Amino acid sequence: MKLIVARTNISEVYARIAAQSPPHHFEFSDPFWVLITTILSHRTKDQVTDVASRNLFVAYGDCNGLAEADVSEVKSMISKVGFSSVKAGRVVEAARLVRDRFNGSVPRTLEELTTIPGVGRKTANVVLSDSLGVPAIAVDTHVQRISRRMGFSNSDDPAVTEQRLRRIVPYDLWIGFNPTLVEFGKKICRPVGPKCGDCNVSEFCEYFHSRNRKAYRKR
Ligand code: SF4
Repeated sequence: MKLIVARTNISEVYARIAAQSPPHHFEFSDPFWVLITTILSHRTKDQVTDVASRNLFVAYGDCNGLAEADVSEVKSMISKVGFSSVKAGRVVEAARLVRDRFNGSVPRTLEELTTIPGVGRKTANVVLSDSLGVPAIAVDTHVQRISRRMGFSNSDDPAVTEQRLRRIVPYDLWIGFNPTLVEFGKKICRPVGPKCGDCNVSEFCEYFHSRNRKAYRKR
């Protein structure tokens, strides 16, 4: 596949995507609660994640409170999120590690964040960029899919796509890049049935052009 999005176009593509799909912001900006919210958010609707995070925040307040929580109680508070049993244990363990290993402060490096069980590159990059102001690009399923379709990346490996995006996306756009593309992926560039006819950036999109070429050849 030929990459048609030149480096100079990325800012324009991003501006159009952001205009069409303003990002959803979770309720918290505090790094610890962004960490917990991001762990809860995997395969869960935003509204459900928001309610579950709020429940935990109201009940436990900070990492000290959540570190002492009973896991089954936590599970009942987050029962509507996907994989709630696993996540209940994960958030309590994350709270204990933040309290005991990192002196109550969420670490500011990818290497340290990914020592917390359940925190992979994607979650770590979300925490870094969305709550700590450290420029990072989180590649989740939406960013990966859109990057492949647009021609930002030729790889199905999120780690490779992340490296590619780090090279072509201007540094000042890294913060906010993930939530903006996530919303675009939910509303327009959906996994099944992308709304290409409504899309603000179809002229830059490999997938759109290749489908049109195929349709033209069939005539
Ligand atoms: S043209 Fe279609 S496939 Fe390409 S980015 Fe837009 S919605 Fe996604």
